[in-house]
Amino acid sequence: MTTTFEALGLIEPLQRALKAENYTTPTPIQSQAIPLLLDGGDLLGIAQTGTGKTAAFSLPMLQRLAAEDIRPAPRTARALILAPTRELAVQIADSIRAYGRHLNLRHTVILGGVGQNPQVKAMARGVDILVATPGRLLDLVNQKHVDLSGTGLLVLDEADRMLDMGFIRDVRKIVAALPRRRQSLLFSATMPADVARLAHDMLRDPMRVEVTPAATTVDRIRQSVYFVEAAGKQSLLSSLLRDGDLSKVIVFTRTKHRANRVAEQLSKGGTAADAIHGNKSQSARQKALERFRSGDSRVLVATDIAARGIDVDGVTHVINFELPNEPESYVHRIGRTARAGADGAAIAFCDPSERTYLKSIEKLTRVRLTIVGDRPEPAPQVETARRESEPAEAKSAPRRRRRRPRRPAVRRAA
Ligand code: AMP
Repeated sequence: MTTTFEALGLIEPLQRALKAENYTTPTPIQSQAIPLLLDGGDLLGIAQTGTGKTAAFSLPMLQRLAAEDIRPAPRTARALILAPTRELAVQIADSIRAYGRHLNLRHTVILGGVGQNPQVKAMARGVDILVATPGRLLDLVNQKHVDLSGTGLLVLDEADRMLDMGFIRDVRKIVAALPRRRQSLLFSATMPADVARLAHDMLRDPMRVEVTPAATTVDRIRQSVYFVEAAGKQSLLSSLLRDGDLSKVIVFTRTKHRANRVAEQLSKGGTAADAIHGNKSQSARQKALERFRSGDSRVLVATDIAARGIDVDGVTHVINFELPNEPESYVHRIGRTARAGADGAAIAFCDPSERTYLKSIEKLTRVRLTIVGDRPEPAPQVETARRESEPAEAKSAPRRRRRRPRRPAVRRAA
């Protein structure tokens, strides 16, 4: 059953803002969560980016704050949204600005990696909504620049990433600084035990809303794999990029160093590309993201952490230059394309050392990637590496013994 934002109970200024954003129909998580949140209930949302979860929590928050005629006291925030990464925090703030443009509410962002003074200054008057990453927020709370004792609304976004990034202790400390009487929401794509415990401690009688875009999104993505030597990946990438259909491409690497190398090589070859990873300054990351979003750069090379929550529409291709060692990361990575109902393609480069990663990915997604080109001869790179590390006499051992049987060249996508 389709519904409308009006039927969900949203006020006219919000409806108008959504119209300007070209949102015509609420997404499933929005239809389920918005009425409950307007009512003041707690929520456990099992959802990842791409489901429309940001609007699902921001819209009722804006409406509830606007309904009360309260001005925030100095250094306080009426509502707090915690996000694991700087990029996600900035994106959430952008959404709040867009959805709340016809309401008279103040918001600000607190994040690490930039000077704290402007943030202290922004908080001096108090804000209606504070979007923050945990580390810096805790610093400012400890320095008494921020007072959360009256913050009645809390959203914890991407709780599983908070856990991955080691923020859970900080999060717990922040939650302890909030009043017990409050509305709390927790979103997470997955529910590891630590996150479930946190949800149990943080939420009161929550409604659980689960949306599973991974499968549906993944279904819409054409997935393929090239078997290639590690040393041949850069030239394979360049040759794929000769096809103009690859117009907005995110390339994933496992390491920051590799991300830099790939972007440099592309730029040298005349393809506009930027790298984005944890060692880049906040402003460099923002700049790279903006260039990519606007189309000034065609390729964004990213590591997993940096790419978390990156929300850029119209990504045509995701290229896994290096396969992730965690299969869940593959699903997150390829979810950058095929957003908001569009089609997308994901191409994996699999070198001999990555075959086990590929197997885990196929097992998790239950999708067999379409093989492009021939399935290669078995792992010469691995063999070379092994032979070099072996004693000299072992080098003469016949290599063929280690070869695995050749598999058929092409399998069909499931
Ligand atoms: P999120 O899951 O919050 O990261 O949102 C994913 C993307 O969907 C963002 O680009 C939003 O702007 C977009 N979006 C959210 N809700 C809607 C909607 N109801 N209709 C169309 N696009 C939406």
